[in-house]
Amino acid sequence: MSGKPLLIQKAAQLVTLKGSSTAPLRGKAMEDLHIIEDGSVWVEDGIIRSVGTDAQVREQVGSRLEEAEVVDAAGRLVTPGLVDPHTHLVFAGSRENEFEMRLQGATYMEIMEAGGGIHATTSATRQADEEQLYQESRRRLDQFLRHGVTTVEAKSGYGLSLEHELKQLKVAQKLNRDHPVNVVSTFMGAHAIPAAYKERPDEFVEQVIREMIPEVARRKLAEFNDVFCERGVFTPDQSRRILEAGKEYGLAPKIHADEIEPYGGAELAAQVGAVSADHLLKASDEGIRAMAEAGVVAVLLPGTAFFLMAEMADGRKMVDAGVPVALSTDCNPGSSPTISLPLIMNLGCLKMGMTPAEVLTATTINAAHAIRRGHEIGSLEAGKKADLVVFDVPNYMGLQYHYGSNHTRTVIKDGKVVYERD
Ligand SMILES: [Zn+2]
Repeated sequence: MSGKPLLIQKAAQLVTLKGSSTAPLRGKAMEDLHIIEDGSVWVEDGIIRSVGTDAQVREQVGSRLEEAEVVDAAGRLVTPGLVDPHTHLVFAGSRENEFEMRLQGATYMEIMEAGGGIHATTSATRQADEEQLYQESRRRLDQFLRHGVTTVEAKSGYGLSLEHELKQLKVAQKLNRDHPVNVVSTFMGAHAIPAAYKERPDEFVEQVIREMIPEVARRKLAEFNDVFCERGVFTPDQSRRILEAGKEYGLAPKIHADEIEPYGGAELAAQVGAVSADHLLKASDEGIRAMAEAGVVAVLLPGTAFFLMAEMADGRKMVDAGVPVALSTDCNPGSSPTISLPLIMNLGCLKMGMTPAEVLTATTINAAHAIRRGHEIGSLEAGKKADLVVFDVPNYMGLQYHYGSNHTRTVIKDGKVVYERD
């Protein structure tokens, strides 16, 4: 890569999160944002070369400044590009009709059992061809970018057959190639038991293990393997088998755990060495302790609880227990139809008892570690990829305080300005 070097200069607050590349931050350290006032960043070939006060960076760079493109961040906040570590980005169709049903009292599980929910999206996704899926998902990815997100994880799991799971994953791979936002793929064939297997779920589990996982791995279409461990979906025992099978093929485990009731999901995550356990609204104290000990990242999804009018996961308790916490949109067509990671940050503060500093850590470096990218993104340090956001607020607290607005002004991905608000 070549092109002009880039100077992002004079940020009122430059949030660096320095020193967090090897492991996610926990406990008190989640508030160590390592802020530089009047901070600047020097970028060459898409990589951060120098970070410091404006005076320090200018001195280091010297006469090369003359060739640089300059982004002026005076009076503004600059952070690492936001990272969303849990989305169901690739799907077709929409489910507004279920919103009314829910508001009249139907539960998410009741709607699913009546053929709605995941099943409705599965039919729409199976019917869509690759091009339609690509176009619909690309529009969502554009929206993520406009909200300051430079990397998203994306799960399959609306195909629920080899052919259609591969189709979803191929779309995610193509988006990763074409779009400025990086897309990290997770195979989630075990997202639901397809209607046709309702009476013989073990047969479907076998299909996931024997057909889907080997083929996904052979085609290098995913890095992670995720399973929805919940009563009425996959049992802890089935989940364990699916996650262990993935590990044999090099797919690192993730798990949708303890969303609706305590079901041993957090404990299982610790036992199989999952990279993350996600949701955790009902995780047991035992499970939380086990996750802290094993270093499993808790990916919390307050937008889902908000939209389903459910009680939130206890983010405060998990941070205090020493679990590394990340936050995510859970962007999906049913339980969290949003792309706004800034709104999620706000919910993290108001509904989960986390501080503005903790939620910023949870959507940058800890989110990067939740998808094994902590070594290359999530903080602003020499040697890392130059993914940054300039926000139109003077300090990091303003991001959460002025809620419901999009404060994103400029997004820089791999050292290039890829979005600028008019
Ligand atoms: Zn999910």
